[in-house]
Amino acid sequence: MVELPVKPPESALAAEDIVKVFNLSKQFDGIEVLRDINLTIKKGEVVSILGSSGSGKSTLLRCMNWLEQPERGTIHVGEERIGINPKTNKPLKYRELAKMRERIGMVFQGFNLWPHLTVLKNVMEALLHVKKMSKPEAEAIAKVQLEKVGMSHKLDSYPSMLSGGQKQRVAIARALAMEPEVLLFDEPTSALDPELVEEVLLVMQKLSKEGYTMVVVTHEMEFARNVSNQVVFLEKGILIEKSPPQKFFTNPDSPRVRQFLKLD
Ligand code: ADP
Ligand code: MG
Repeated sequence: MVELPVKPPESALAAEDIVKVFNLSKQFDGIEVLRDINLTIKKGEVVSILGSSGSGKSTLLRCMNWLEQPERGTIHVGEERIGINPKTNKPLKYRELAKMRERIGMVFQGFNLWPHLTVLKNVMEALLHVKKMSKPEAEAIAKVQLEKVGMSHKLDSYPSMLSGGQKQRVAIARALAMEPEVLLFDEPTSALDPELVEEVLLVMQKLSKEGYTMVVVTHEMEFARNVSNQVVFLEKGILIEKSPPQKFFTNPDSPRVRQFLKLD
């Protein structure tokens, strides 16, 4: 009998570091907003980033896909150094950047859907124009991803006809369609009415169960506690705590985190 090759189980894959942030620093107008950030994320992990407003959460996420360029430090996704061409040691050119960003999906607070395109076309857009897929191919993939986020019934709707939760689920499907290795979420539920938050968090929880690697800036403590593998706390641009949720929410090392959680 011929033995078929066996795909390694997800748990075996999960041991691998996929994101490595090393000594990352970023300034705006001479003011340091991130200082010496070090963070390692394993394949399949969900990392929640907490911290008060202005602490540098968005900037950290934006550096991870080079929407902001840090002055110091490095970011690797897999073997690849983000933002820098390994051969020339120079910053990536526009096309190379677009290629790199395919591997790192981003979901924004404000959805950023194209208002003039239907739900289906919003998800197909980058497949057609960045991945250069044929129309039938792009449509098939878009439909699979929209099914995953429970939006198959709205393929021909325009964003203006959707609720905020539906818009965000379409934005997630659009990111998934590119088959990213890492998904970044910047406060994905902060713009939503409270009753719409849950449907988006449920989709994100489902993705975490499927093994997606996710970095999530959030104020949703229940999500951070129940879905993440690591919780990171930023304070004035410094990473002051990184712990598994169990420890983070009950017995954090940092007095600032204890104060933030009102533990004392
Ligand atoms: P958070 O997402 O935690 O609220 P941000 O990363 O958005 O924090 O911002 C961190 C700091 O950097 C803040 O003081 C903010 O005002 C500043 N900042 C963010 N983006 C810019 C920018 N494009 N130009 C100048 N300052 C900025
Ligand atoms: Mg922010």
